[in-house]
Amino acid sequence: MARVVVLGGAESGVGAAVLAKVKGFDVFLSDNGAIREDYADMLREWDIPFEQGGHSPALILDADEVVKSPGIPSTAPMVREIASKGIRIISEIEFASRYDDAKKICITGSNGKTTTTSMIHYLLKEAGLNVGLGGNIGKSYALQVATEKHDYYVLEISSFQLDDSYDFRPDIAIITNITPDHLDRYGHKMENYVRAKFRLVRNMRPEDCFIFDSDDAITMEHLSKIVLQAKMLPFSQEKKNLEQGAWLDGNRIVVRYEQSESELYLQELALGGRHNVYNSMAAALAAKASGIDDETIRNSLRSFTPVEHRLEPVLSLRDIMFINDSKATNVDAAWYALECQTRPVVWIAGGKDKGNDYSVLNELVSSKVKAIVCLGKDNSKLHEAFDGIVGKDRVFETSSAEDAVKLSYSLASPGDVVLLSPCCASFDLFENYEDRGRQFKNAVRQL
Ligand code: ADP
Repeated sequence: MARVVVLGGAESGVGAAVLAKVKGFDVFLSDNGAIREDYADMLREWDIPFEQGGHSPALILDADEVVKSPGIPSTAPMVREIASKGIRIISEIEFASRYDDAKKICITGSNGKTTTTSMIHYLLKEAGLNVGLGGNIGKSYALQVATEKHDYYVLEISSFQLDDSYDFRPDIAIITNITPDHLDRYGHKMENYVRAKFRLVRNMRPEDCFIFDSDDAITMEHLSKIVLQAKMLPFSQEKKNLEQGAWLDGNRIVVRYEQSESELYLQELALGGRHNVYNSMAAALAAKASGIDDETIRNSLRSFTPVEHRLEPVLSLRDIMFINDSKATNVDAAWYALECQTRPVVWIAGGKDKGNDYSVLNELVSSKVKAIVCLGKDNSKLHEAFDGIVGKDRVFETSSAEDAVKLSYSLASPGDVVLLSPCCASFDLFENYEDRGRQFKNAVRQL
């Protein structure tokens, strides 16, 4: 019996182990750290042997194939040892897709993955299709392949998942955009990161669709260097009358796929902001290419509700609107958050800086932001970047969500907005971005 070893005992690893078990492999799961109790229970339930708190080479190096969780870097000593023995290392999506013949719509990119993935899942569900949602969201793809049966999957795919994928092939692939992020995992080379994203499309066939942002310079530059077989469906807010794809014409989005053209009005879209126009275009194209009718597309994009922590309106007090955009962990995401504000902004920013260049925000900060409330351990880079723009006495320091909210409320006037859109990771003061967003919302509700 072939032996499959799974490295990493969280959502994707446990899903892969269950699938391997269902498919009759001799399975073993190994995690260097602690496995969460509910995941350990699940492994016991499925009768899958596992270890935690360290790797036993003797139990791992006899594998025929290793499924590696995306959180484990390829430089980890155990991974290096496995590779040096010539054992094939694959991702969970690579493994699961071998046992799945559903149509797959797969979304990657630097920003907008979760929003676009959720939108497309919602659209397909509204159209009455039997569709699973997975990848980086919710239940792992592998677990669904093992225990459910869907005709479609909408999968959010990170570049880490793609690093160990070889034959994986989406029917519809979307790259939302590419801006610098996670460069630490790619030898600080943008080129490596871009190539990792493009691994999503390399097996695509002429009948498949590739949806991409043709306003994105990095995407277009890379596309000019490669040959793709798939049908090309660009979306753009700058170009018009594309042969195929989606574009903006005044206050209307035009979506053209094969011989059919449909339109959507900007004021009808449930989610505001220029970035969500891009996301909606991508989602509408994916839906149209899946054969969904125009009315369902229009109604769904009208009734879709924002995903938590992504420009999520919390509440309004004394006509001061509080918005939770805790997921904005890089400069580009914060740019879009500021760009779509129509009221004066008290901006809560800061956290763990990932080598940010804040200068792209200068113009927006100067025209929209009346005060900055820093929420991070070390806020020196924010001071450096913005003291000269909003005024030294308008940039404040806080170190808890509660203080940041109270101070922002006192700085804001009726008609203003208090926007948490940190530009930074959350690990200095919070467990993760969800924790930061929830603490922010709780503090707002306490006011
Ligand atoms: P991801 O899953 O790629 O991190 P999300 O949908 O979770 O993307 O959004 C992350 C952050 O980026 C949020 O702050 C959101 O408002 C912002 N954002 C969403 N879509 C885009 C886009 N197309 N371009 C830039 N920023 C975006």
